Amino acid sequence: MSKKTMELYIHIPFCIKKCQYCDFLSFAADESTQNDYVQALLREIAYYGSRCMDYLVTTVYIGGGTPSWLREESMEEIMTAVKHSFALASDAEVSIECNPGTVTDHKFAVYRRSGINRISIGLQSASDEELKLLGRIHTFDQFLKTYELARRNGFDNINVDIMSSLPGQTSESFGQTLQQVLRLKPEHISAYSLIIEKGTPFYDLYKFDAVKQKAGMPTFVLPTEDEVYRMTKLTEQGLKEAGYEHYEVSNFAKPGYACRHNIGYWERENYLGLGLGASSLMENIRYSNISDLYEYLEQSANIREGLWENEVSEERADGVYSYTEELPATNLHASAERIGRKGQIEEFMFLGLRMTGGVSRERFEKCFGIPIEAVYQEVLSHLQAEGLLLKRAGRIYLTEQGQDVSNYALAQFLL
Ligand code: SF4
Repeated sequence: MSKKTMELYIHIPFCIKKCQYCDFLSFAADESTQNDYVQALLREIAYYGSRCMDYLVTTVYIGGGTPSWLREESMEEIMTAVKHSFALASDAEVSIECNPGTVTDHKFAVYRRSGINRISIGLQSASDEELKLLGRIHTFDQFLKTYELARRNGFDNINVDIMSSLPGQTSESFGQTLQQVLRLKPEHISAYSLIIEKGTPFYDLYKFDAVKQKAGMPTFVLPTEDEVYRMTKLTEQGLKEAGYEHYEVSNFAKPGYACRHNIGYWERENYLGLGLGASSLMENIRYSNISDLYEYLEQSANIREGLWENEVSEERADGVYSYTEELPATNLHASAERIGRKGQIEEFMFLGLRMTGGVSRERFEKCFGIPIEAVYQEVLSHLQAEGLLLKRAGRIYLTEQGQDVSNYALAQFLL
C-alpha cells in the first residue's frame, strides 16, 4: 500500500533586524539562544518523525525569519534529523529562505550537501533607497552577490521575492526592479504587494494613506490604487513575456518550477509545522504551536501527548447542539481545531481558486463525495454569467477579470 503524503514546514524565527513592514513571528537573538532553539527543534523533529511513519514527506520548507542567519552546522543538523526521522521522498523539494548579507559560499555548499535543492532569496527591491526605507539589512549589490553564490554552488531552482506598492514607489521604479531581476533569469519570482499591517512601524507611518489607497482616494506617500493596478499589470505582462507562468495570485514560475510546497497548501495537503508558532493541517485538524520562545523552549524539553478540548456548537436540523470535542495534541500546541465538512469545502474553493489553474472537479468529488455543482450550482452560474469564472477541461478557475476582483468572487463561496 502506498503511503499517505505530507509536507514539512520548519520555522526559524530569527532576524538580524526587524523590517519596518514585517508582522511575521521573528526577532533578533544571540547565538546561544539560537543554539537552544535548534536543540528544541531537533527534539520536535524526532518526536513527530516517529509518529508520522505512515507518511511520505514530499516537500520541506525552511522559512522564517531568516533561516540563513543560523550557523551552517545547525542547518546541517536539522536536515540530518529530518532525513533520519521522516520518510523523505527521493525527489522531495527542499527549500530554504535566505536573506542577502547572511550567506557565504561555504553556507551554500553545506546547504547543498545537506539535501536542500531550492533557494528563496528575499530581495524586495533593486533600489537601495527603497531597501533602506523598508528597513532591509542589505543592498541590491549584496543581493547580486548572494544570487551569484547560490548559482555557483549549483542551485538550479531559485526564487526571488519582490514587492510592489511601496511608499514613494512608482510603476517606473518598480519596472526597474522587475527588469533587474529578469536579467538574472531565476526559475521563480514571487511578487507581493505591500500590505500595511497593524503593529508594524509602517502602520504608524502610513495607516491613513493605506485607508485612502483602499478607497481609491489620492494618497500622499503610498502609490494610488491606479498606480498599484499598473504595477500589477506590469508584473503580469513583463513576466509572461519573459516566459514565466502566472500560476498563483503572487507567484510566477518557469515551466516545471512552480513551488510544490505552496501548491500543497493551496490544495489542502497535510502539512506539519515545526518550531515556534508554526501551524499545521493534519487530517483536517489545524494546529498552531506556542509562539512564546521561552515557553516553547521549556515545553520542548519534554514533549508529551495530550488531549485538546474545544467547546463546539453545531447547528443541526432539529436545533443547536453543544459538546466538548477532544483532539489529539501535544504540550507544544497553543490551539487545535477540527475543520468541519463545511469549512473544508470553503477552504478547498478559496485556496484552490488562488491558483490560475483553479480547482479540479474530479478532486472535489473525490474529497467530498458529491459533484461541485451539488454545492455551488448557483454561484458558479452567476460568476460565469458575470465573466469572472470559467469551466474548462475538468477545471474551474477565475478569469483574468475574476482575479482582478478576487475578493468579491471568492466571497461567493462562503457557505
Ligand atoms: S527579513 Fe523577513 S521575517 Fe525578517 S524582519 Fe524582514 S520581513 Fe520580517
